[in-house]
Amino acid sequence: MKKIGTVGAGLTGAVLAYKLAHEGYSIDIFDSRSHLAGNCYSKRDMETGVMTHVYGPHIFHTNNEHVWKFVNQFDEFVPFVNRVKAIAKGHVYTLPINLLTINNFFDQTFSPSEAKSFLEKIGDKSIDRPQNLEEQALKFVGRDLYEAFFLGYTIKQWGIHPTELQANILNRLPVRFNYDDNYYNSFYQGIPRNGYTYFVEKMLDYPSIKVYLNEHFDRKQAGDYAHVFYSGSIDGWFNYKDGRLGYRTLDFEASRYDGDYQGNAVINYSDIQVPWTRISEHKHFMPWESHDRTLIFKEYSRFCGTKDLPYYPIRLAKEKTLLKHYVDLAMQERNISFVGRLGTYRYLDMHVTIREALEAANIFLSAAARGGDIPNFFVDPLR
Ligand SMILES: Cc1cc2nc3c(=O)[nH]c(=O)nc-3n(C[C@H](O)[C@H](O)[C@H](O)COP(=O)(O)OP(=O)(O)OC[C@H]3O[C@@H](n4cnc5c(N)ncnc54)[C@H](O)[C@@H]3O)c2cc1C
Repeated sequence: MKKIGTVGAGLTGAVLAYKLAHEGYSIDIFDSRSHLAGNCYSKRDMETGVMTHVYGPHIFHTNNEHVWKFVNQFDEFVPFVNRVKAIAKGHVYTLPINLLTINNFFDQTFSPSEAKSFLEKIGDKSIDRPQNLEEQALKFVGRDLYEAFFLGYTIKQWGIHPTELQANILNRLPVRFNYDDNYYNSFYQGIPRNGYTYFVEKMLDYPSIKVYLNEHFDRKQAGDYAHVFYSGSIDGWFNYKDGRLGYRTLDFEASRYDGDYQGNAVINYSDIQVPWTRISEHKHFMPWESHDRTLIFKEYSRFCGTKDLPYYPIRLAKEKTLLKHYVDLAMQERNISFVGRLGTYRYLDMHVTIREALEAANIFLSAAARGGDIPNFFVDPLR
């Protein structure tokens, strides 16, 4: 049996390699970077001993029991609740906007129903069908909260004004009329006890999986394999020949201190005058460990250049047109499936990445068993 090639040793590539290896396939897995785990890569900081989320903070969360059980086979996911704070106009608030945020911001002691009526009163009633993020926010929370928590942060994060972003982005962080400050709504939430890299190492620890790090996989190599799962960028597969899909990239400015820097894992900075979007203090992601020193990342967002790492796909009309073009090209490829966040040009949380990779493996296995075609995509990247 010819081998399967898996491009990318992030969660997508690792889950696929694991599943197929356990069904009897031999897998070569490649990553152009020097480490496993893709953007979830974590490593201990030499100076402080703190486990660091090198490409930005990662908190695992899901409602899917199957996915939760799957990840816990490789390391214990220790329960962790992300309680995000925001600093705006010289005050500290809790995020997502909840009853405490509203009461602190307006210096009130509203009950849930009073806060609801209050927001209904201050929301912009002239907006019937919000056409963009700004209108959506103005309708739901009114101008003051919008300007404090959304306007500056959105411009810093996306480099564009909220009027240029789709209204539905806001649906993801609805206002809460209670004191729940758990950032995610998911039933299961946690962080792997030994870090994400260990977790991926365990997944790939199988005799028929061969890992090739520092190896950029080229389209010309595809013929060496019965099938290739490609979790690199879809435009990169075609050598960007018809242009590059737009991404935001992040810069992390690391600093080390004695003791505790900010008393919390993540604090967002909403004001436009502050150039960073948030500060992550990594030791607070692993409260079961104890460290005298601390490591923080100030996070800055900017447009992704050709030498930068792609983080957040922009997916506005222009990018979607180019994406459609690359998807059309990808559909003509033989024995290649485009998977993961870069292969399908979507933002994917880890649990979605894992669920999709498990589903892709199952589709592959049943198609292979009946001698059927393997799809180029297991999801519609244009949706
Ligand atoms: C800042 C940030 C914070 C996040 N925080 C969270 C969070 O808190 N919770 C959550 O659930 N999710 C979070 N995510 C999402 C999470 O990072 C993704 O779900 C996950 O990384 C997707 O895995 P992947 O394998 O699809 O992609 P990646 O991790 O990007 O892996 C793809 C790999 O392919 C390699 N590659 C590409 N092209 C080639 C090639 N030609 N040859 C060889 N190798 C190649 C790359 O080097 C890369 O390592 C966050 C994402 C970002 C950007």
